[in-house]
Amino acid sequence: MGEFELIRRYFAERAGRRDDVVVGIGDDCALLRPPGGDALLAVSIDTLVEGVHFLPGSDPARIARRLLGAVVSDLAGMGATPAWFTLALTLPAAEPDWLEPFAHALAERAAELGIVLVGGDTTRGQLTLTAQAHGWVAPQRALRRDGARDGDLILVSGTLGDSRGGLQVQQDQAAATESTRFLLDRFFSPEPRIGLAQALAPELHAGIDISDGLLADLGHICAQSGLAAQIELERLPLSPALIDYAGPRRAREWALSGGEDFELCVTAPPAALARCLALAAEQGIALTCIGQMRRGEPRVEVCSEGKPLPVSAHGYDHFGGDR
Ligand code: ADP
Ligand code: MG
Repeated sequence: MGEFELIRRYFAERAGRRDDVVVGIGDDCALLRPPGGDALLAVSIDTLVEGVHFLPGSDPARIARRLLGAVVSDLAGMGATPAWFTLALTLPAAEPDWLEPFAHALAERAAELGIVLVGGDTTRGQLTLTAQAHGWVAPQRALRRDGARDGDLILVSGTLGDSRGGLQVQQDQAAATESTRFLLDRFFSPEPRIGLAQALAPELHAGIDISDGLLADLGHICAQSGLAAQIELERLPLSPALIDYAGPRRAREWALSGGEDFELCVTAPPAALARCLALAAEQGIALTCIGQMRRGEPRVEVCSEGKPLPVSAHGYDHFGGDR
């Protein structure tokens, strides 16, 4: 049983119903309608587990930045404006040498992202960090996974695969170079595309943040919009650092299925392409058209040099190996 089957069978099907749940389980954030307001409350939660999401002994300041970057990215994936967060900490020990740099970086990154800490929970156990982010979005501006239409162009921000490259740099214990520093920074300090998502939202039909890998996350747009996605391998945006470190073959592989890039994957009608590119350029963020949504079986088809590529790799699934 995979992660998504588990969520569906045990939780989504028994989640209960309320009229004020506009979007429940299944998107980057839940969208909830508080009484008396126009804006929807956007809520998302993310967990980092030592040994799963970061290597044991990782710098606590980097973990703090990664935690907030990751959770706020889900608000970006929804087109929402971040406002508050809560923090659940499970720590093996109350160790000031770990807590001080963690807390310092957490406060610093929260200020940069415009969010404030409003609560949490603290327990003892294996190092596990959970942050829940709350923000808001106007209903007509929400970037949902189910809104893509036949013929929409598929656009991604930034470059893909860098975070997977950063993980490899750590596993290889590679020497510091300009490329390895860039990749480590992409791994530890994700930059949620909040401003870009909001600027593009009026032009878009659907959107998601890429946390489990392009194939998996674009696959969610396909599944929820009932469309196929056709993308071209040669169009995937790759950083020079990733190509330098991993070579072009692995770079493309990681761009397809490496997780945690926290870039946006959005769909827009072809007529909006020029406006989208101009808005991204204004913010100094790369935006690349990698393919198109089509009627068909809801899955991602990858073409290379005009020929379909057999794609076996999927995004990260925490229970994907379990039977
Ligand atoms: P994302 O990658 O955007 O953070 P996930 O792939 O982790 O989203 O989760 C998919 C959907 O399932 C999300 O809407 C998430 O809120 C929901 N979800 C994940 N785990 C649970 C759970 N244990 N109970 C209820 N909903 C869950
Ligand atoms: Mg997400």
